[in-house]
Amino acid sequence: MEFFNTLSGKKEIFKSIRPKKVSLYTCGPTVYDYAHIGNFRAYVFEDLLKRTLIFWGYKVKHVMNITDVDDKTIKKAQSAGKSLREVTDKYIEAFFEDIDTLNISRADHYPRATEHIKEMADMVKVLVQKGYGYKKNGSYYFDISKFKEYGKLAKINRNELRPGERIESDEYDKKNAHDFALWKEKKPDEPFWESEIGPGRPGWHIECSVMSTKYLGQPFDIHCGGVDNIFPHHENEIAQSECFANKKFVNYWLHCHHLIVNGSKMSKSKGNYYTLRDLIKKGIDPMVIRYLLLSTHYRKMLNFSFETLAQSDSALERIRDFLRELKERSFEQGKNPLVQKFIDQTGAEFAESLGDDLNISMALKSVFNFVRKINKLLSKNQVYTEDSKLIVSALKKWDEVLGILPKDEDKELEASIKEKIDQRNKARKEKNYALADKIRDELYKQGIILEDTQDGVRWKKR
Ligand code: AMP
Ligand code: ZN
Repeated sequence: MEFFNTLSGKKEIFKSIRPKKVSLYTCGPTVYDYAHIGNFRAYVFEDLLKRTLIFWGYKVKHVMNITDVDDKTIKKAQSAGKSLREVTDKYIEAFFEDIDTLNISRADHYPRATEHIKEMADMVKVLVQKGYGYKKNGSYYFDISKFKEYGKLAKINRNELRPGERIESDEYDKKNAHDFALWKEKKPDEPFWESEIGPGRPGWHIECSVMSTKYLGQPFDIHCGGVDNIFPHHENEIAQSECFANKKFVNYWLHCHHLIVNGSKMSKSKGNYYTLRDLIKKGIDPMVIRYLLLSTHYRKMLNFSFETLAQSDSALERIRDFLRELKERSFEQGKNPLVQKFIDQTGAEFAESLGDDLNISMALKSVFNFVRKINKLLSKNQVYTEDSKLIVSALKKWDEVLGILPKDEDKELEASIKEKIDQRNKARKEKNYALADKIRDELYKQGIILEDTQDGVRWKKR
């Protein structure tokens, strides 16, 4: 497999530290509000990466942190007049609901920053002892001039560094590469923790340095996030962790580009965002949102609009219709050798495309070509019982990576819809059109549309 590594600035052959095992860390949500679908672009990309690694036979250990103390969470708790824990618990719960809705597979660990404060203070202490950190008033800062490789991830011109000048805020841009806060001193009205280095709270960057290596060791294989995390967050994580342990922090850095709206990054601060919940309230199927977020290569910008959502809807519907037809149609006994051939070809192309830096467009293209070729055979009645089973299981296998098709839990729904369609057919045969219409309207209210076609009645979700 090959991935584009932000650190080297090129595509590299992926080699895991341990054979067939991958350690993966992905920066998680800051739980001060509902995540917006820009955030979910990052989480869906990471899900695709993880599912692809598994598809390629790796065992993945995945850790995603929860940032439950930082400038934003504290501000939110203050303005809501609530405790930090009350605010963060609420949004953590919402986050898990949302990732389930988007069929994002769960990580192995979701460490919370507030449960690792001691380890963070310990790391700061060691950094100070080694001369990389210093104290100013009650806070501690990292001296960027002491780490000669500072800037290697974000490709910063060393002349632009401003060591000695300090920055309190966790977020700033490349032109402001200051000494950054490792630990922030206790302030009135802010939560704080007692520690060996004094009372206060951790900086945002040290949270990820501690929680990633605690669960994955150092170095570990892959670290992900959105491109906005490259600087300063990931640059600072590297500085802290490499100076702390005198060894490389991470081998591969993968970053996804932004979800944008009319040319600018979707973000809370710009107000140009939709939460997943906003879109679901508008009647949009979450799997269509997943498809949209998934189907553009992760290193390209993705423009969000209702037109692009509609295109995703029709692409997804094509695959769903195809699967439904295969399940509902009756086939004659037999086998067409072409079907197995198409499956093998498509499977090989699919795996190869994804192994090429997650080339999702090519992978999806192979699947759609496959659908077209099988549809041709279907129209000529050249698909048989054995073939239809093989096709369905091939689609399910590819869907272990894509995660867009209905799961088997939907079988109950399918069975109940089929029963209603049968009742409606019976009513129509008996010329009881009032009952037939009533059944159709009831299904419509449940979100199911019936279509009368030459081959009988078909249904789809509204
Ligand atoms: P945050 O909660 O702000 O720390 O962001 C969580 C994750 O979402 C990070 O990996 C960010 O890089 C990512 N992210 C934030 N906004 C966007 C966006 N508009 N498009 C893609 N990823 C984003
Ligand atoms: Zn992080």
